[in-house]
Amino acid sequence: MLDIQEIRRDFPILAREVYGRPLVYLDNGATTQKPRCVVDAMTDEYLNVNANVHRGVHYLSQQATELHEAARETVRRFVNARSTAEIIFTRGTTESINLVASSFGQAFLHDGDEVILTAMEHHSNIVPWQLLQARTRIVIKVCPLTDEGRLDLEALEGLFSSRTRLLSCTYVSNVLGTINPVADIIRMAHDHQVPVLIDAAQAAPHLPLDVQALDCDFLAFSGHKVYGPTGVGVLYGKETLLDQMPPYMGGGEMIGKVSFEHTTWNQLPYKFEAGTPDYVATTGLARALDYVSAIGFPAIMEHEQELTRYARQRLMEIPAMRIFGPSDDSVISFLVGDIHHLDLGTLLDRLGIAVRTGHHCAEPLMHRLGIEGTVRASFALYNTKEEVDTLVKGIDRVRQMF
Ligand code: PMP
Repeated sequence: MLDIQEIRRDFPILAREVYGRPLVYLDNGATTQKPRCVVDAMTDEYLNVNANVHRGVHYLSQQATELHEAARETVRRFVNARSTAEIIFTRGTTESINLVASSFGQAFLHDGDEVILTAMEHHSNIVPWQLLQARTRIVIKVCPLTDEGRLDLEALEGLFSSRTRLLSCTYVSNVLGTINPVADIIRMAHDHQVPVLIDAAQAAPHLPLDVQALDCDFLAFSGHKVYGPTGVGVLYGKETLLDQMPPYMGGGEMIGKVSFEHTTWNQLPYKFEAGTPDYVATTGLARALDYVSAIGFPAIMEHEQELTRYARQRLMEIPAMRIFGPSDDSVISFLVGDIHHLDLGTLLDRLGIAVRTGHHCAEPLMHRLGIEGTVRASFALYNTKEEVDTLVKGIDRVRQMF
């Protein structure tokens, strides 16, 4: 059992008030709060170590480089990759997916080739493929959803063809809270010799990731959703694929030798890391992953799943409550009667309760559900049943105003 009160003390922001009320932060799907150790590690690096990485012979540069490369090893361990050559630092999930769409696309996707997505993808796993489509006439196929908000795996099986080159799919839906059976999906795709990209943005804070056990070909996540800093993320890729892909951006660090006649590329992972990386953020990310790992996913999952079950049950007591999707873990999307999601979110905010409203960057999913948006409560390891009770009471108060 987690000592939640002790954990909450690691996150100073949770003790603050908004509008004179204690903050109830239930917008963790958008971004998580940061434990003091993450901020301290970054402050310490800026104040005592700061120097550009990789390029310096001097002491500070070497120390900063050691921290940066140690962070890469921490990420490797976190996702259980074979080698740090397979861990590319990016700005976040969005950049990771854009990198694959652009670079894998250039290497492997030709006119008439097909990419399979699903109806529950975030825009960041839709639009990069459309941008590619504007350059190469690829076909985007979409796996439909069942009415329960799960992927229709039979329909998915029928989407594969001899032209399918990649399947890109989210692990956990940021709207429905569905945990997709990605291991089965990857096996199905591999039976058709199709590689798979997993968008793990909503999985990384809640579930253990093991890229070797999953056998995924790419996996992307963002630091800021897993208690780390903003502006840093990860792309895992199988070395055999990354080796065959061209660089995504050009500049310093990603090169071997440069001349005006001919330029060669650096080895992995640096081939995909042009320019000065956010080496302070990578230190913060590593500290965040260490923080999560020290608590451990068994305890995190037990707490968050219990909290999500409790919240679903309490929310269902509210008349005219409609919950969208199965909320397998940490995300509950809902509407109450005909109260507009924006009104509900705004009035909850006045009670100190932070939730998200709108389409959650998943407009095609909203079309599938036949709605414009939802209110979304999303939990993290520091949330409590008392906070769920405050949310339920808040919704009741808003309901009485309408
Ligand atoms: N995919 C999913 C499932 C997400 O929830 C998000 C963030 N809401 C993203 C991708 C994009 O992440 P980021 O904005 O950190 O790049």
